[in-house]
Amino acid sequence: MDDQVEIEGRTMDILTREQRSHCMSRIKAKNTKPEQVLRAALWSAGLRYRLHYAVMGRPDIVFAARQVAVFVDGCFWHGCPLHSVKPKTNVSFWQNKLKRNIERDINVTARLNTEGWTIIRIWEHEIKDHLDSAVLRVVSVVTSSKSP
Ligand SMILES: [Zn+2]
Repeated sequence: MDDQVEIEGRTMDILTREQRSHCMSRIKAKNTKPEQVLRAALWSAGLRYRLHYAVMGRPDIVFAARQVAVFVDGCFWHGCPLHSVKPKTNVSFWQNKLKRNIERDINVTARLNTEGWTIIRIWEHEIKDHLDSAVLRVVSVVTSSKSP
């Protein structure tokens, strides 16, 4: 991995400042969604995973051989304790919807656990604020899970 970083570093040195900033802005623009940010970070940490793998609950990232699945939970839709916003209109509709989402998350995690899966749930805000620790959490779970 160090080699790769070094090669990337060298490549970046070859580029002009304009090319470099164009390159960086494209990377940034492409990785706006939290799950994409996490995928990119895990990939550069050396982890290889499957997307759109047919598992109940449609996890965002799947390590199939090790039976580890990662869900990235949006703070609003999944009722993050820090950032859940109380909708001001259609209050009961939203309360029910968010409650159902949270219940479904719990059920999906429980069902997959009984099927032998290890589930990692990461909040959207963890990716925005603490990407490194989110990556470390996934890396440590994946590397300590049963080998393929
Ligand atoms: Zn949050």
